[in-house]
Amino acid sequence: MTLYIVATPIGNLDDITLRAINTLKSVDLIAAEDTRHSGLLLQHLGIKAKLFALHDHNEQDKANFLIEKLKSGLSIALISDAGTPLINDPGYHLVKACRDNGINVVPVPGACAAIAALSVAGLPSDKFTYEGFLPAKSKARQDCLIKLLDEPRTMIFYESTHRLLDSLSDMQTIFGANKHIVLAKELTKTWETIVSFTVSQLIEWLNEDTNRQKGEFVLIVEGHAKTENDIDQKVISTLKLLQKELPLKKAAAITAEIYGLKKNQLYQIGLNAEQ
Ligand code: SAM
Repeated sequence: MTLYIVATPIGNLDDITLRAINTLKSVDLIAAEDTRHSGLLLQHLGIKAKLFALHDHNEQDKANFLIEKLKSGLSIALISDAGTPLINDPGYHLVKACRDNGINVVPVPGACAAIAALSVAGLPSDKFTYEGFLPAKSKARQDCLIKLLDEPRTMIFYESTHRLLDSLSDMQTIFGANKHIVLAKELTKTWETIVSFTVSQLIEWLNEDTNRQKGEFVLIVEGHAKTENDIDQKVISTLKLLQKELPLKKAAAITAEIYGLKKNQLYQIGLNAEQ
């Protein structure tokens, strides 16, 4: 009674491990996000297996069924359409239910777009944060990016064709035009492209040819490098809040008092914001 979490390729079908193939051959049941899509991969690998659909909409219900199967002694593999299950793919509820029920869960690691992109980005990789997809609506997306303004670690985002430019435009607004971004497109596929630009240059590059906007994307965004004169985002927020109610001089003085900073520096920041 073991659940195997098996990574599958993110494009190039050769990117599957021998252990993944052997596991998929040996299990009693394979739970897949899209049985038709995974059927093609299994066919390519010459594996005849019982496929079971487990996707975002039915995962919580179906998890109980799979738990019963595991308890009865069957072994099951979970795969997703591409890459590592649970990384912006279904599986979390099932894995949690297995852990809660004392069922063995074993990883069979392999491709993951985020890690593949990070490994070639040339941005600091000792510490990073995985952000997945940004929200679809611009207001929510900008709010999310504002929270990341001070993030010192390299940030990893997933993006799709139809939202790529909107997200980059919001990044330009919030992070500034000079934020450094590496775009990794169609990794391991025929049109694999990896480019490194500032966000404004990247938008320009994408607009030069609409074909560049098509495909699957990972965005690796440089973290915020703190300088001595850097002011924390929470200080700016306090200043802005006070500025709504008070003259700038007073707002800067109170903010300086709260955070132990120089009021002239805050006054200047407030002045710049007013322009
Ligand atoms: N589980 C997958 C993984 O391990 O990377 C991620 C699945 S998520 C639903 C799909 C997103 O992953 C795509 O929209 C894209 O952002 C990213 N992605 C998947 N394959 C990719 C590839 N070959 N090149 C670039 N990005 C890819």
